[in-house]
Amino acid sequence: MTRIAFIGLGNMGGGMAANQAKAGRTVAAFDLSAAALEKAAGAGCTPAGSVAEAVKDAEAVITMLPAGPHVRSVYAEQVLPHAPKSALLIDCSTIDVESARAVAGQAKAQGFRFADAPVSGGTAAAEAGTLAFMVGCDEADFAEVERIIAPMSRATIRAGDHGAGQAAKICNNMVLGISMIGVCEALALAEKLGLDPVKFYEISSQSSGQCWSLTSYCPWPGPVPAAPSNRGYEGGFATAMMLKDLKLAQEAAARAGAAAPLGAAAEGLYALFDRLGGGGKDFSAILELLRGNAPQ
Ligand code: NAD
Repeated sequence: MTRIAFIGLGNMGGGMAANQAKAGRTVAAFDLSAAALEKAAGAGCTPAGSVAEAVKDAEAVITMLPAGPHVRSVYAEQVLPHAPKSALLIDCSTIDVESARAVAGQAKAQGFRFADAPVSGGTAAAEAGTLAFMVGCDEADFAEVERIIAPMSRATIRAGDHGAGQAAKICNNMVLGISMIGVCEALALAEKLGLDPVKFYEISSQSSGQCWSLTSYCPWPGPVPAAPSNRGYEGGFATAMMLKDLKLAQEAAARAGAAAPLGAAAEGLYALFDRLGGGGKDFSAILELLRGNAPQ
């Protein structure tokens, strides 16, 4: 039986770890949050008292943490000193390319195999085991990465060497942030024009305005039952996380000398929504800002 250590059991990691357990793997799970740990235990994982305890005899370590600094410190201080050298290390968090390459470098220097494998799909896909994974790793390690990831995935694509998974993720989420704002602007305008936003959804989802932000994650409550808009924008993908990703894209663009003006505008709008108190809401709640409402 494959032994997995799973670190970070939040909105995404909780569902992902549960799918590893459902696939019959032994999952030693750890999170700083006792509530998250308890939920994981209810989903068939074995709670550990620390990262060190979770990874001590793991065949694969999967991390799903908030941001680059968390990933750097968890690997440097806890995973690398305590995991067996044979363990395959897979970080699924969305972080900056430099941090991913730095952690990969440290891991490889100590004899580990490492992959950056950020995901796309949101919490519903994390629970359903239908995430898309974009992987940066040595080519020789990819088949094993794919096998470990399989219970959580509908598509696993190798983007290239270390850091390439994060580069793909940052570009993808810049599209997502921009498209969500576009969909929200259109829904708010439809409302102002006296057009029922749900009727607009029905029309645009079958017209050239169709996109994932509209048809899989509709920010207007009703048309897509699984979307966070139907539960007060709780859970899902927090505005603060989207803001983090848009900042990563702008920093990467500045370093690479690339122009990303719509990404910059999206970052500005999400920063404003965050400052108004919307940081903990799902990122589709930016609809409220564009309708002229303060976050609830
Ligand atoms: P989250 O805040 O819900 O979960 C992160 C978890 O990590 C928390 O439970 C926290 O307690 C835990 N944690 C933090 N530091 C820790 C440590 N040192 N040791 C152990 N646990 C620690 O965030 P999330 O929404 O699950 O997102 C996780 C990552 O996935 C982020 O990088 C995010 O950008 C990315 N992501 C999120 C979504 C989404 O829809 N939520 C989609 C794709 C990618």
